Amino acid sequence: MFKSFLIKYGEIGIKGKNRYIFEDALVKQIKHALKKVEGKFEVSKQQGRMYVEVLSEYDYEETIASLQKVFGIVGICPVVHVEDEGFDKLAESVVEYFKEAHPTLDMTFKVNARRARKNYPLDSMQINYSIGEKILQAFPNVKVDVHKPDILLNIEIREKIYIYSQVIPGAGGMPVGTNGKAMLLLSGGIDSPVAGYMVSKRGVKIDAVYFHAPPYTSERAKQKVVDLAKLVAVYSGPIHLHVINFTDIQLYIYEKCPHDELTIIMRRYMMKIAEHIAKETGSLALITGESIGQVASQTLQSLAATNEVCTMPVMRPVISFDKQDIVDIAQRINTFETSILPYEDCCTIFVAKHPVTKPNINIIKRSERNLEEKIEELVATALATDEVIICE
Ligand code: ATP
Ligand code: MG
Repeated sequence: MFKSFLIKYGEIGIKGKNRYIFEDALVKQIKHALKKVEGKFEVSKQQGRMYVEVLSEYDYEETIASLQKVFGIVGICPVVHVEDEGFDKLAESVVEYFKEAHPTLDMTFKVNARRARKNYPLDSMQINYSIGEKILQAFPNVKVDVHKPDILLNIEIREKIYIYSQVIPGAGGMPVGTNGKAMLLLSGGIDSPVAGYMVSKRGVKIDAVYFHAPPYTSERAKQKVVDLAKLVAVYSGPIHLHVINFTDIQLYIYEKCPHDELTIIMRRYMMKIAEHIAKETGSLALITGESIGQVASQTLQSLAATNEVCTMPVMRPVISFDKQDIVDIAQRINTFETSILPYEDCCTIFVAKHPVTKPNINIIKRSERNLEEKIEELVATALATDEVIICE
């Protein structure tokens, strides 16, 4: 029954030139999301409105589900089209539509007509009034409320006449591509995919880096990260995942540094390498899934120690979340089941029984001096192993 969808978007304060950037990015993301849906669609901007027009048979549920994953969309209104065959015919069609779209027929409504084509014989006030009257006659339990109607029944007079009243909630946020690019440190855990999703929701394009440590971490562990990147990409669009072989760096730190400082020093090198790749590939910030106090390496002192190696902003969107809050989002965005698959993680391989929880940066730096002989070369070698996997 629905031949197009009116797309509502509306982050306040987007004006002038930025409005075009926002809209163009939104059109691009909608097209990308609909590529996977069977059917032929056209996305268009007309007179300050955005429509997805349907040009073939299509699957309604699947279309809605895809549109609901596009950041920047606030609401999706399924639209019925009728030919302009005179006012009486229109009134009939609207009554018919109303019965199908709102079968409970016990609510308040208001008609909101709009003439995009000014040669229509009635003006918007006359349409509002006359259609309102027809609906009241047809459904005795329905009432008019012009201030706070349950249902706003929209009638747009164009070449054809568009009728819509349902608003299906969208994902909100801003279209990906409107706020630069950032590099996500993506592990196989629960937190980092959620962190990537959250930043992407603000319109930031995402790249990712994964440190693996073969043979201590398996191909399956790497595949799990690829799968997670693909799941995040459902929302964020394609992710370039950089896979870095971290084994030799880890072994070297293990050999040269106190074992209780291992995790912190290792995390510092992960951040350094991630920042290096970020700079080379146009990312303006890093993203991690860290949350205060969750584990020893995430006390405020530890966070300060890992942060200290970076000059780029490090975004930690789940920093103040309880684990359960992060799990809730992971479940909603469908990454949770993959995240809890039990494959080893390079952070857990050489961990000390009692890692430092309050590292002192000066002491950590002193330990890192033990690495001076070979670490630069090992970092360069690790960077040379960079394997880029496009996850979409
Ligand atoms: P997650 O659930 O995201 O794995 P976590 O609670 O296990 O997080 P840590 O293992 O301390 O926490 O890692 C903290 C953050 O460091 C992760 O959220 C992620 O951003 C990054 N990170 C950890 N391990 C890796 C890795 N092997 N490759 C890339 N990033 C990593
Ligand atoms: Mg982890």
